[in-house]
Amino acid sequence: MAISLTLPTIQNWSCHNCGGCCRQHAIEVTEEERQRILSQGWKANDGTPSGNALFERHGGPPWAKRYQLAHQADGACVFLDERGLCRIHAKFGEAAKPLACRIYPYAFHPAGKKVTVSLRFSCPSVVASLGRSMSQNADEIKQLARAVVPDGFERTPPPALSANERLDWPDLMRVGDAIDATLATTDVPFAIRLQRALFWLNLVEQSRFDKLSGARLTEFLDIIRQAAVEEIRPNADSRQPNAECPTPLGRIQFRMLTAQYARKDTATDLSSGWRGRWKLFRAAARFARGTGNIPPLQSVFREVPFETLEQPFGFPAECEELWTRYFRVKVAGLHFCGPAYYGVPLVEGFRSLALIFPATLWIARWMAASQNRTQLTHEDVSQALTISDHHHGYSPIFGSFGFRRRVHTLAQMGEIAKLIRWYSL
Ligand code: SF4
Repeated sequence: MAISLTLPTIQNWSCHNCGGCCRQHAIEVTEEERQRILSQGWKANDGTPSGNALFERHGGPPWAKRYQLAHQADGACVFLDERGLCRIHAKFGEAAKPLACRIYPYAFHPAGKKVTVSLRFSCPSVVASLGRSMSQNADEIKQLARAVVPDGFERTPPPALSANERLDWPDLMRVGDAIDATLATTDVPFAIRLQRALFWLNLVEQSRFDKLSGARLTEFLDIIRQAAVEEIRPNADSRQPNAECPTPLGRIQFRMLTAQYARKDTATDLSSGWRGRWKLFRAAARFARGTGNIPPLQSVFREVPFETLEQPFGFPAECEELWTRYFRVKVAGLHFCGPAYYGVPLVEGFRSLALIFPATLWIARWMAASQNRTQLTHEDVSQALTISDHHHGYSPIFGSFGFRRRVHTLAQMGEIAKLIRWYSL
């Protein structure tokens, strides 16, 4: 099957064998993959357990068992060796690994007659855009696409535009292209471009599209994009605090949302039972209160007072490129709505994606404050993005009613733009 792919050509990537993904992800295997790994004959002198001890049962009823690769005591994959390399890859080659490991960090999403490719920024090499260009990786990406994209993907319906409106694929892609065009201009800071996209998408949500399609839709999008440019201008000094700060209620909702992004949820965390859940519940209560010290949700964080993170920490200039690339890859890859993001409509999904910006900057401030610093570095933001993007579109809780209602509440209160301004200072 020949699949026409849209590649994120502004992004580079090659694996640099940091082993990070092998420590963070639970890898579900199909029965065929389980049998293949069993037939590879792993034994204790390979540094692994043998037989069924290579796998852990997870989820599913007894008559439909599901398996994932087992983990070492520190949470790392059972096949990760002491040098941080995969034992299956080293002994039998890349193609012998489970498909989930081979695909990472790529993500494939149907986009009409094409398939669009995105990347997961939980991989530090993606964040740093290290390695080969996407054109150089094209053959390998095509091979992976053939393995994961199902026949008949062209019949996948487009994501809804909003709660009440649907467009066909070409028109939905016109809206996606307009978001990309808003985010791609580099004449104003990224935080301004993001607010502009949110502003005109609010207008999209209030509009009817029964008589707007093709060139007329493009014309409409041009008009509302221009309205956003006139409405949202950078201050003379765009790094000065804006009088309009988030409200106390907006801050509670935001802290609860950010706590979800700052969690780690490795296989070890998820198997820690009631004690782990009780710890998370107590941490959630402290995030809701927002006073005293922030409970450290991962080892990279230290307890620091909540109020410390509300001081301006600056916005490193190199982060402009990182944020522009991150959002453009996610938007072009449709990695924020529809099948890639809990089936939510485009406008809602973009609001969730936009909230990653202040949530990641809050986490980056926490990292800086944990090292007694009061200024952000590019490294803080890069590392924070690997933490927040790990969950985006993958942790079931982000598609739950509670999480979606939180995003909706923040949008209704007009808080998302305020949070973007507040944490970009
Ligand atoms: S996190 Fe990225 S760079 Fe590190 S091993 Fe995984 S794919 Fe390679």
